[in-house]
Amino acid sequence: MLKDAHNRTINYVRLAVTDRCNLRCTYCMPEHMQFLQRRELLSYEEILHLMQLLAARGVSKVRITGGEPFLRKDLLHLLEKLSATPGIEQISITTNGVLTRSFIPALQSLGIRNINLSLDTLQRDKFKQITFRDEFEAVMATFHALLEHNMKVKINVVVMDGVNTGELLDFAALTRDYPVGVRFIEEMPFNGHGKTFSGPLWNYEHILNTIRAAYPMEKIADAPHATSINYHVPGHQGQIGVIPAYSRTFCGSCNRIRITPTGGLKTCLYGKDAINVRDLLRAGATDAHLMQELQQAIHRRFANGFEAESDNERMVSMSEIGG
Ligand code: SAM
Ligand code: SF4
Repeated sequence: MLKDAHNRTINYVRLAVTDRCNLRCTYCMPEHMQFLQRRELLSYEEILHLMQLLAARGVSKVRITGGEPFLRKDLLHLLEKLSATPGIEQISITTNGVLTRSFIPALQSLGIRNINLSLDTLQRDKFKQITFRDEFEAVMATFHALLEHNMKVKINVVVMDGVNTGELLDFAALTRDYPVGVRFIEEMPFNGHGKTFSGPLWNYEHILNTIRAAYPMEKIADAPHATSINYHVPGHQGQIGVIPAYSRTFCGSCNRIRITPTGGLKTCLYGKDAINVRDLLRAGATDAHLMQELQQAIHRRFANGFEAESDNERMVSMSEIGG
């Protein structure tokens, strides 16, 4: 079992398979982003090797993210191999939905049902303003196709003052019309512009109070290790959650680590890479050596995201971490 010095068990890996993206969300990356070369990415063989080692030590959940994961060539090949890895019980994916629709039947046949779809507005023009791309219709088509295929859909909404804060109630209303989880995420300082962020104007309490003023929300149980605080409106099919991603109220029960597209191990979203798995593998590290490095890095984990952030000089783009 993988444990840190604060007695938190790690059983969940977020795997960013590419830094490339077909959108340019303003909160995530600069419009003219420099992307990595292919050889800089962890190869599928390297990813699978790492995941086998981690799964043998108790990691059972993997989330595929990016960049936009469906831009990575032959993603289905990786998903097939991952789903056949002993110990891996659940694979989920976070996607912007632009290319996702055509993959749905293949995902279903691999038993992948949990899809987080990022969608920050329900208005086409605003979508273009936020993402610099005119892909709203494609994302909405993916949303409806996911529901038609009975996938478990959560919509991730990054709350941006004056940009989409007028739409919070429209998003809440989606849970009346569809069996979806809508999760409002506090904006975090990972827009690729460095440390120029003084905290979001809309924290989770402000978001909740705004929705509460219009809807009677009942608290529901949160899953163990959940980062979201979840509610249900009586009569609605879906759920509403808030993710205190900047306030960081959930660090005490954090069960996750992150692998960046270049093989960096992040033991905290806000921290710098603790080790680089790709460099160790390419230098010929044995499994025992690699495992020792991973275990030591996990042991050294900061108690919370504020401590990790204060040790990190360089806040990168979220597409280089995976969210
Ligand atoms: N491209 C995919 C997508 O957009 O769903 C996966 C990668 S994206 C980096 C993962 C998640 O991080 C998305 O839900 C996105 O909204 C969120 N995200 C990116 N930048 C963020 C920021 N600065 N603050 C809060 N969430 C952010
Ligand atoms: Fe791309 Fe996702 Fe970042 Fe938007 S949030 S630019 S879709 S990686």
